[in-house]
Amino acid sequence: MRKGIGVYLHVPFCLSKCPYCDFCSFPGSREEDRERYVGAVLREIAEREFPRRSVTSVFFGGGTPSLLSTAQFDALLSALSSRFSIERDAEITFEMNPATADRDKLRALRSLGFNRVSIGCQSTSDAELAALGRAHTAEGFFDAYRDAVAAGFSNLNVDLMYGIPRQTANSFAKTLSDVLSLGPTHISAYGLIVEEGTPFFTRRDTLGLPGEDAEADLYALASETLRNAGYRHYEISNYARPGYECRHNLLYWRQGEYAAYGLSASSHFAGVRETNTRDLSAYLAAPAAAVSERTVINGADAEYEYIMLALRLSEGIDEADFRRRFGHPFRETYADKLAPYIARGLLAAGDDRTALTDGGLYLSSALLRDLLP
Ligand code: SF4
Repeated sequence: MRKGIGVYLHVPFCLSKCPYCDFCSFPGSREEDRERYVGAVLREIAEREFPRRSVTSVFFGGGTPSLLSTAQFDALLSALSSRFSIERDAEITFEMNPATADRDKLRALRSLGFNRVSIGCQSTSDAELAALGRAHTAEGFFDAYRDAVAAGFSNLNVDLMYGIPRQTANSFAKTLSDVLSLGPTHISAYGLIVEEGTPFFTRRDTLGLPGEDAEADLYALASETLRNAGYRHYEISNYARPGYECRHNLLYWRQGEYAAYGLSASSHFAGVRETNTRDLSAYLAAPAAAVSERTVINGADAEYEYIMLALRLSEGIDEADFRRRFGHPFRETYADKLAPYIARGLLAAGDDRTALTDGGLYLSSALLRDLLP
């Protein structure tokens, strides 16, 4: 039996542009811009050929998808439903930022079939939110969370960030405890990355960023606090109550297959990744012909990508699955490179699986560099 696929839909509009963000997103869109964009995505859905397999997850990401109107969400989800067979218990998520959806809209989205919402919080300190240039306050986040629960959402993710300018262990501990008091099913905690080309990059020396050691301590604080509160640390940056791991993201990490629509969106089928253009005018002009990059992932690249993604997960690499995919054993093949990490307790090698330990997850990038073919 073939496995189900995921569907991703990118919405590139935001209230304002955060100065650290290098995602494909534009601030200050007007209603007519969003309407034109949705029209283009509907054309892409109607005209683009993707395998018509059953869908186990749908993810509206961005940008800030919650800026779309209920009617626009309805049109997009209906178009996807007529194109694919979406399983009855599929996970259907949209990302939202505070102050972009009220309780009525959230109720309407719940009735449309969305059953998971991912809220961008980042921090519950207003000073840190201001330092990040976020368009909301901590109170705005709490209101958004309460509205989503009141609208009938019981599966909620909260996005957090560590490594924020002038963030301390105490302030991060307060953010974690504030969010835990709400009891979300899932929490993501990503380290701030200062990407080249962003305003933060230009000002990086004067931002008051915590150093590398302090950042590692914040990571450890998140892991310990959230695990003590009953969350599984199932991926480097992701924590879930048992059974609430994000199915859509698991598809990415397990090299599953997914269709993707919209500006800059990437799909993956049969070892081929296709990525749409980031040029909005080009996309609007020909949305079904907007693929700007096509990569065939095979041979050593496929193997490295598999290792890189599987080691992000606490379940790690399954020997049998690896051998089935690549025709040789993982542990024997990489024995020399793995040995120093096993000796330092960063990697655990059981009979069937090899996985990073809690201490190793944070250092995964160094290990992954070593494993490069
Ligand atoms: S809200 Fe998210 S996507 Fe939008 S600008 Fe800020 S970080 Fe980027």
